[in-house]
Amino acid sequence: EAKRRGKGMWIGYADEMGARVSAEAGLIRQLDQAVELGQFTLVYQPIMRLADDRLTGVESLIRWNHPDLGVLSPVDFIPIAERTGQIVAIGRWVLREACRQGAAWMAEAPDETPLQVGVNVAGPQLRDPNLVADVAEVLAETGLPPGSLVIEVTETAVVDDEESQRTMEALRALGVKLALDDFGTAASSLGLLLTCPVNSLKLDRSFVESITTVSRQGAVANAVSQMAAALEFGSVAEGIETEEQRDLVRLLGYEYGQGFFYSRPVAPERISELREYGLAPASS
Ligand code: C2E
Ligand code: MG
Ligand code: MG
Ligand code: MG
Repeated sequence: EAKRRGKGMWIGYADEMGARVSAEAGLIRQLDQAVELGQFTLVYQPIMRLADDRLTGVESLIRWNHPDLGVLSPVDFIPIAERTGQIVAIGRWVLREACRQGAAWMAEAPDETPLQVGVNVAGPQLRDPNLVADVAEVLAETGLPPGSLVIEVTETAVVDDEESQRTMEALRALGVKLALDDFGTAASSLGLLLTCPVNSLKLDRSFVESITTVSRQGAVANAVSQMAAALEFGSVAEGIETEEQRDLVRLLGYEYGQGFFYSRPVAPERISELREYGLAPASS
């Protein structure tokens, strides 16, 4: 009896594995066509200057309107696309769309300081020899000033990779800004900060989540803020969900903040409204 159940369980497990593998194979096939079928959209999360709670920038975040599965989060398909290399084509679409939108916001409010537009770039994109030329071309085509584009890279994508470092230098030479995303999570050495040509650090939200004046997370958040200032990097605290967290990261000297406390990622029209009317609740 136990043996039979054991065997059944094993078969069940194998079936489940098989199902997962073929579901992923299906997703990979569908990912190939998703750009041309217009299934991707970008939402934008406000980035606020903590000193005065003013909107100064946004981060673009991809969503996939999947024909059968509904709206998929990037965590469900970006890691797959990174493994298959499909991220390069998807990333090219993201870059163009975010820059086009950034230029459109500028045209809407020509007298205002342009919003900084963040675009996430994954490791395989950074190692794509065409990235720098693509970025230059998209900037020229859309008219977005290079200094309004912030390319977000993660520590894991740039650690010990000379080619990626050179690509980052070339992006900087175009006038594009670079941010080190999810800072503090990867097993990188602080020595990375000596050579990595970034303009700002984005403290990972895991530190903000349990930030208090006495927690270890708070101590690390404080140290990162001090270090960013000493190295003349900008600093952004991610994942601010409460007023207390906002107050504390502000106190620790973070310059910018981002998180559900201010706003979830929203459609581009909502960003236009936020610029015009401020951060009052959408419903009236
Ligand atoms: P990320 O670049 O670190 O983006 C921040 C993520 O944190 C977003 O998740 C955002 O919705 C979420 N977030 C923001 N504020 C809060 C908060 O207060 N609380 C919580 N719990 N979460 C918050 P999202 O949109 O699901 O994106 C997940 C990741 O997928 C991104 O992390 C990024 O690594 C990747 N990703 C998203 N869009 C793109 C893209 O266009 N290209 C590439 N290569 N990667 C992307
Ligand atoms: Mg990011
Ligand atoms: Mg992040
Ligand atoms: Mg992340």
